Amino acid sequence: MINHRGPEFAALLRSLVERIRPFFGSSGDILFFPAAGTGGLEAAVVNTLSPGDPVLAVTIGAFGDRFAQIAQVFGANVRRLEVEWGRACTPDMLRAALARWPDTKAVLLTHNETSTGVQQDLPALAAVVREHGALLLVDAISSLGAVPFDADGWGVDVVITGSQKAWMVPPGMTMLAVGPRAWEANSKAKMPRLYWDFVAMKRSMERGQTPYTPALSIMFALDAALERMHAEGMERIFARHARLARQTRDGLVALGIALFADPAYASNTVTAAWLPEGIEWRALSKLLREEYGVVIAGGQGKMEGRIFRIGHLGAVTDRDIAGVLRALRDALARLGYRPGTTTAHPRPQLALV
Ligand SMILES: *Cc1c(COP(=O)(O)O)cnc(C)c1O
Repeated sequence: MINHRGPEFAALLRSLVERIRPFFGSSGDILFFPAAGTGGLEAAVVNTLSPGDPVLAVTIGAFGDRFAQIAQVFGANVRRLEVEWGRACTPDMLRAALARWPDTKAVLLTHNETSTGVQQDLPALAAVVREHGALLLVDAISSLGAVPFDADGWGVDVVITGSQKAWMVPPGMTMLAVGPRAWEANSKAKMPRLYWDFVAMKRSMERGQTPYTPALSIMFALDAALERMHAEGMERIFARHARLARQTRDGLVALGIALFADPAYASNTVTAAWLPEGIEWRALSKLLREEYGVVIAGGQGKMEGRIFRIGHLGAVTDRDIAGVLRALRDALARLGYRPGTTTAHPRPQLALV
């Protein structure tokens, strides 16, 4: 470790901010807090809102629910636009919700819903929020760094990401971009905050420090990651993620497995698929982990035991995905799965709220 009040740290901090900035597409302030991504979501809420503020939470899965819950816990008047899991929110749904609740002060959106493998059309949704004039806070924890993002161009006011996702570094740091409308809201926001205070963090970072001890070891790792990422190039990173996502989806379909997410909004960082009928999640994950060295994720919340998820973000290659698909094919065969027998799950009708 180094002295986090010294010139060496100030140089590291400045360099991290300037090299991560293009991924946010933000000319605003970039802030780093030592925390899990959830801390970043809480920071975005408490720095821009007051108790009683009308907030529209668009939830398309477990992480959207969490964002809504944070706003609720801090006393916001939360209205929910709930979309069936596996689907994205469309601009029309969002426009209708804002017409129903015209007093909405802020919209909470998940860019990439990790629990369902859905990536929303953020430019289109942000445009609807901009027409209305509300503040837009976006959970981009599992998308930023892997897919294009343009906070300035799309009009996103606070963007939140987390170190352990596309940034390929250990968990423990959340990184945010804060734009001018968010600062304007911040000057009036009354929710209690101390650790998360944006103003204290901004002032301190401008002096090359942080108000309290930074996640220094993670910053060293991020320094190395950003070097790698800029060497590969942003466009190439985005293209690789798109290609690996396609490879994953095509490979699953070739095994006769039905994909979970609406294909028009399939995520480039995580793919969710239905567990074939008769295959137990526990048995499949145990076999993959113990005999193939492959770890995949199960479903969250109400999709537990019904879907599984393959992550493909960060330091992932075509060979990794091919290996996972091979292991999956073998493991499923050993569990008695025969492709083409049974995978069709009727999707319930889309429920608009
Ligand atoms: C991982 C994730 C989170 C939560 O991050 P933690 O670091 O576990 O707090 C929130 N939102 C999304 C979309 C995520 O993928």
